[in-house]
Amino acid sequence: MPELPEVETVVRELSRYIVGQKIKSVEILSARSFLWNPKITRPKKVGGKTVFPVPKEILGRTIKTTSRRGKGIIIDLDKGYSILIHLKMTGQLIYIPHSRHAELVSASRSKILKRVQDDKPEKGRLNLGHPDANFLESMPSSHTRVIFELTHGTLYFNDQRKFGWVKLTPTKDIFADKFFAGLGPEPFDKSFTAKYLWDICQRRPKSNIKSIILDQKMVSGVGNIYSDEALFYAHIKPTRKGKDISKTDASKLRSAILKVLKLGIKYSGTSISHHRTPEGATGKMQNHLAVYEREGEPCKFGCKGTVKRIKLGGRSARYCPVCQI
Ligand SMILES: [Zn+2]
Repeated sequence: MPELPEVETVVRELSRYIVGQKIKSVEILSARSFLWNPKITRPKKVGGKTVFPVPKEILGRTIKTTSRRGKGIIIDLDKGYSILIHLKMTGQLIYIPHSRHAELVSASRSKILKRVQDDKPEKGRLNLGHPDANFLESMPSSHTRVIFELTHGTLYFNDQRKFGWVKLTPTKDIFADKFFAGLGPEPFDKSFTAKYLWDICQRRPKSNIKSIILDQKMVSGVGNIYSDEALFYAHIKPTRKGKDISKTDASKLRSAILKVLKLGIKYSGTSISHHRTPEGATGKMQNHLAVYEREGEPCKFGCKGTVKRIKLGGRSARYCPVCQI
């Protein structure tokens, strides 16, 4: 699942392509992928068939800004509406400019790959989110769930497993949305202090520290990759219990979280998918990871230890058994 640096990358890249464009039409191919405030409109049964009406509030609107809260994407429109997107496990946003449409929509994989590699960013095809074969396929694909026709291009929301979502909501109600309302502080916020981190550890004395920082209600945006990385730099073993986190540990961990997230943003996120790096993905953070997906390899602190992988609460955790205690 994309974490804070990956979603930040999506938001920044998207902004360069779509801000200022109008939404000319929307096609909803999967009702499950497009949710909206029932006060606005809801799906209808017509002749025994469910149709997915497009809320009229979205049509003709101009895209003003793109931003992020936790792992959620916010696209503000004019006239007081916003589109919210969560990519979850397999969500993607692919943008293809109209000027290149004929060439990029039906081109062969090798041609698309060449275009993805050669193009100047603003001119080519934009592949964001979960990196998989769709990055090199013609659009729409069998995984396309929502299609936004914009003034100068088409934006495809693809989601193989359909856990992700697109929502339309009045801008004033964003933070009342059940996803956004439940989020803990942003790591870069002033409220995310060492004291706050220590306090949440004391409130969950028996939980392991990795689960605590993965909990989006505690701090938003940290997932499996960056929790492993932050714990490595803070020299804390992922299995350590909340009650065994000292104030000094909390302070080191807070700094380590900020350090790895900044690094992730600097390298445009991580593009690991099924243990390979697909072409056409923006992120390069996978080349700078210390422990994540490095099990069996030597510790980057040079301690002569080997990165170990363990199962922890249904997830994997990687750490150096020598440096992290
Ligand atoms: Zn080590």
